Amino acid sequence: MYNKIEKKIFKHTNGELTKKALKEQRCCYFPGCSKKPIKSHSFQKRAVLNKICDKSGNVYFTDLPNTYSDYETKLENTGFLHKGHINDASTFFGFCSEHDTEIFKPIEVETELTDNIYEYLFLYAYRGLAYSHVSEKSIKTIPSLLTKKKAALEKNPKIENQSIVNYRVTQEIVLAMIKERYNVDKYQVLKQHFEKVLKNGIEEKVIKQFFDIMYIKLPVSMNCLALGAGDLYFGERHEEPPICQGLIPDIDGTGMIYFFICVKGQKHLYHLIFEILPQCTSPIFLSDGRSPLLVIIQNLLLMNLENIVIRPELYNKMKETDEMKNMNRFYTASILNQNIQISNFQGFNLFQNV
Ligand SMILES: [Zn+2]
Repeated sequence: MYNKIEKKIFKHTNGELTKKALKEQRCCYFPGCSKKPIKSHSFQKRAVLNKICDKSGNVYFTDLPNTYSDYETKLENTGFLHKGHINDASTFFGFCSEHDTEIFKPIEVETELTDNIYEYLFLYAYRGLAYSHVSEKSIKTIPSLLTKKKAALEKNPKIENQSIVNYRVTQEIVLAMIKERYNVDKYQVLKQHFEKVLKNGIEEKVIKQFFDIMYIKLPVSMNCLALGAGDLYFGERHEEPPICQGLIPDIDGTGMIYFFICVKGQKHLYHLIFEILPQCTSPIFLSDGRSPLLVIIQNLLLMNLENIVIRPELYNKMKETDEMKNMNRFYTASILNQNIQISNFQGFNLFQNV
């Protein structure tokens, strides 16, 4: 569709746009704070990412600027994971330096780590919400940023007229998708609930007063991480309030935890998660090495989160077989709202040993 030079120009333009959009966030996510946010990690760099990166400090992760910079070919060919340094993996512009340090100390600073599981989950969930909310808000600014860039592209003598037309058509599709996929107003209620807990004290009693929480400890190694907020999608789109979920290191560092948090009183909407999922725990693994519980969890994570980090050894192992292809196909199908059976094994395993 485009020649080499055009491809390079468009990719560069889109990449610049998304990077700029992600930095657009003007003030800290903490209520009432107007300070400028810093770039922070949703997973701790030293305590978590450092443990799963390769010798050069690289991991594979979902990276919005990268995805949108070459959207036409990305999802189908190279997939949604990109190789990059842990300095950039899972980062976002959410909190000012003061709040980023102060609020997350109990999950960040080794000497001050909490042993309270509810505080632990709450802080991770709050960071996940901030990550998704802030990143999606930024992505929404791309259309207006693009309008400004268009004129310059049209005047560029290196680009054929037909290519400009094609580029415009693709961008319109992407922008329509952004508009449909990211409705940032839906986060308000969830956000307010988190802020009520922050105000009243991050204690189990207070947290349970505002949220329904479920978590399952998984005896698996830290090869994959996921964290964020969003609509829960498990086969069909529902107009239901957003939730936070994640796959995070266990509080004592011995395995992983899958957790799910929703605003109090919505538990019945999430019947599958609160009722069915915990019943799948035994046995965790079947004789073929797969587990019904882990299949549902990995499907849920991929269908609902855009903040995923993978250990390079796992990525490479999956790449050697059809697993990576299957995972990309599954991810694309869920983005396109195709009908999916949440409990079906999709031909990849994020929980395998590497
Ligand atoms: Zn602040």
